[in-house]
Amino acid sequence: MHFMNRRCAILPISDPELRCKLFDSLVLPILSYASEVWGVDEKIGDAAELLHRKFLRQDSTANVIVLAELGRFPLCFHWWRQILRYHNRINNLSDDECLIMCAFVESMQDPAHLIWSHKVHSWLQSQSVGFSIEDDIDVRTGIGNAKNHYAQTWHQNYLSSVVRYQLLQPEYVIAPYLSAVKGFKSQKPVSRLGCGCHGLRVDTGRLLPLAQQVPREQRHCVFCASGAAEDEHHFVFDCPAYCAIKNRFTNIFWGPAPTLSSFFTLHYSKVTTRFLRECFEHRNFLVAKQSGHTL
Ligand SMILES: [Zn+2]
Repeated sequence: MHFMNRRCAILPISDPELRCKLFDSLVLPILSYASEVWGVDEKIGDAAELLHRKFLRQDSTANVIVLAELGRFPLCFHWWRQILRYHNRINNLSDDECLIMCAFVESMQDPAHLIWSHKVHSWLQSQSVGFSIEDDIDVRTGIGNAKNHYAQTWHQNYLSSVVRYQLLQPEYVIAPYLSAVKGFKSQKPVSRLGCGCHGLRVDTGRLLPLAQQVPREQRHCVFCASGAAEDEHHFVFDCPAYCAIKNRFTNIFWGPAPTLSSFFTLHYSKVTTRFLRECFEHRNFLVAKQSGHTL
């Protein structure tokens, strides 16, 4: 994975979709080696998933948002697909290969291997898919049900950062802004804002020691006198500190009542990215200026 990342940096390849495809072609087969035969040990599976998320994440984005932003699912879905396909492959072996088939059927009846078949059985049951050793398993339905269930659970996640992200991006698919603009540098400002890891006061306030934390709505903007919380909406639409920049980008604010969601989904473009980058740069300048005054 490190070698691949290094090659991506040299070439350079920063398109998240393409990088994910590379991960799936070069890294995932190693993480999944023989998983269809032996299943996946929970501890090893967790370690592999950790690596997967480490590959995807930037900054301090919450784990569940990292996956959702790219429309990806935990690796276990891939492993289950491999296991179910392996089962079907064995079932459809020709007579010449019946020895493998006999070994498989026998192993399914062997108490030492029952854990594997039991796991497959109960997993399929949890996805409402029937299971019989002799019949083919409907892999597409099984995996499809499991993914739908995961996406539904994601929509019921009440973690505040997830709820805010869902307002911007309600569907469990790759975020449109990642396809609208190419290049890590261009994607970074919007990704930061979308995932709530932007360094605005509502974000930095949650990282303070518990005793110093104040409620989100009281993490006021220190660059204007409005008394409003410095959140994503205030930063993009309301804060007068960025008026000069907004005046140069009026066309990205068109529409009767632009919301954060419409800003991120409907008309997202390179221009929007440029606007956000300039705002973040100006904010850095204001922070430096302010700390200079305090010193
Ligand atoms: Zn402000």
